Formats: sequence, C-alpha cells, structure tokens
Amino acid sequence: MRPVSEASSVAASRRRMSGPVRSLFDAVVAYAALGALLSALWPAPAMAEDDPFRPARLDMVREIEDIAGLVRGPAVPTTLEPRVLEAMRSVPRHALVPDSVRARAYQDRPLPIGYGQTISQPYIVALMTDLLRPEPDDVVLEIGTGSGYQAAVLAELVDRVYSIEIVPQLADRAADDLGRLGYDAVTVRSGDGYYGWEDQGPFDGIVVTAAASHIPPPLVRQLKPGGRMVIPVGAAFMVQQLMLVEVDEAGEIRTESLLPVRFVPFTRDTP
Ligand code: SAH
Repeated sequence: MRPVSEASSVAASRRRMSGPVRSLFDAVVAYAALGALLSALWPAPAMAEDDPFRPARLDMVREIEDIAGLVRGPAVPTTLEPRVLEAMRSVPRHALVPDSVRARAYQDRPLPIGYGQTISQPYIVALMTDLLRPEPDDVVLEIGTGSGYQAAVLAELVDRVYSIEIVPQLADRAADDLGRLGYDAVTVRSGDGYYGWEDQGPFDGIVVTAAASHIPPPLVRQLKPGGRMVIPVGAAFMVQQLMLVEVDEAGEIRTESLLPVRFVPFTRDTP
C-alpha cells in the first residue's frame, strides 16, 4: 500500500508543473507505480527469473501427480498432500546433483551421484515423504543422505531433520550443499545408520533410502508412539518392497507392504 500513497502525494505537486518537465515526471511516477504494482502481484519476480530450472521443476511435479494417480496399491495414496508437492516445487534438485547429470535433474528418474550411489526418483521421494505424514513440529531421521535431496524436501516440511550417510565423502558433500542452500534444519553425520541416532531420538518419522534385508530393530525402537517409518526391504540388487512401519500409542508395531521398488543396497560398516 505504501508506494501507492507515495504516488498520490506526489500527484499534488505534479499539478503545478507543465511541458517536458511534467511529462518526464509523469513517466517516472508511472514507472514507480508500475514497479509497485508488479512487486505487489509477484513478491519475488527476480527469484523466479533467476532460476531457469523452475519451469522444468514444475513439469516434474505435474509428472509426479500423474504417476501417483496411476500407481495402484491398497495403501498407496493416489493423490499426494499439497504441502508435499509444494516442497517438491521448492527444492532445487539441480543444485544437489553432480554437474555431469545436472541437465537431467528434473527427469522423474534416479541419477548417479558418485561412489556407486544414486539420488532417488522424484516420485519415490514425494511418495516416501507423503507416507511419513510430516507435521511442522516433527523431528525426522533419514538413513542414506546421498545427495541430500530427500533431506532438503523433509526440511521444507518439518522442524528438524537428522540424516546419516555411510560414505563419508557423500556425507561431507551433502552437508556442504545443504548449508550453501540454507537448509539449516538438516544435520548430517557419517556412519552406519543401522543403529539410528539415539541421542536425537525418538523420532516422529524415519525414512530409509537404501534397501535393507530386514527392518533394523534399533530404528523401530527410536520411533515415537504414533511414529512412522518408510523403508525398502528385500535382497540387494533385486526388486524390494517399500514397507510402512507404524507404532501406535500403545507401542504396538504394525507393518505393511506397499509397492515394489528398487534401491541401492543398505551396506554395513565392518568392524
Ligand atoms: N536419500 C538419498 C538417496 C541416496 S541413495 C538422496 O536423496 O539422494 C542411498 C544412500 O544410502 C547411499 O548414499 C548409500 O551410501 C547410503 N547408505 C547405504 N547403507 C547405509 C547405511 N548403513 N547407513 C547410512 N547410509 C547408508
């Protein structure tokens, strides 16, 4: 509102002018008013223009919505939460992948991130995030930081994200990238995520992004009552089942098989 009232206060003095001075004055006032109007309509037009990847990112989210509508399974949602889709529209996936694959950052597919690992397919990231039912006050644990992309998506939605990555070089790179992008709610550490992060638990949600042969009991123990864990379970280098683990308020554990998926293996530190 302020720019409009400034424009109308100068309008009074404009009435006392004439000729070329007046038309130059008119042009300046009109230019200022147009600027004020544009910034009121689009609060951050510069940001959208500065991000040449945004149209591709919006297309990617539309594709995710289409896939969600087609995937069938009793417990698989066919529409994803608007908050989750908005987070997917916000996180610059291109800034978390190596230069060599940046041009493909917004294709709905996994991409290599070095050290034999991959960044997950965006639809799977959106689905796993949705299945956690993230709330703004939640504290979430991720096992398998990789590129840091899933952690960034979670950081858009919850209060704190703790993420463990077994490859130290990936943990360092993800921590640097997430810090550079301003994702201060994420804390990354290097190590074997099998044992979780007891000091920071219990957690409202746990997401495991590598295929485990079984559900690690220490992770189940670090879920709060009412907490949820999403984890791919099955043999390495084969098709696994995406599983949902829920702990109810009485501490009862319920597991459910959701969808066939393919993840990189959950590896273990050998002592
Ligand atoms: N969430 C990641 C996906 C990375 S792929 C992303 O958004 O990019 C899975 C990652 O899990 C790999 O980086 C792999 O090194 C890591 N990983 C495998 N076993 C692990 C374990 N026991 N503890 C922690 N990380 C592990």
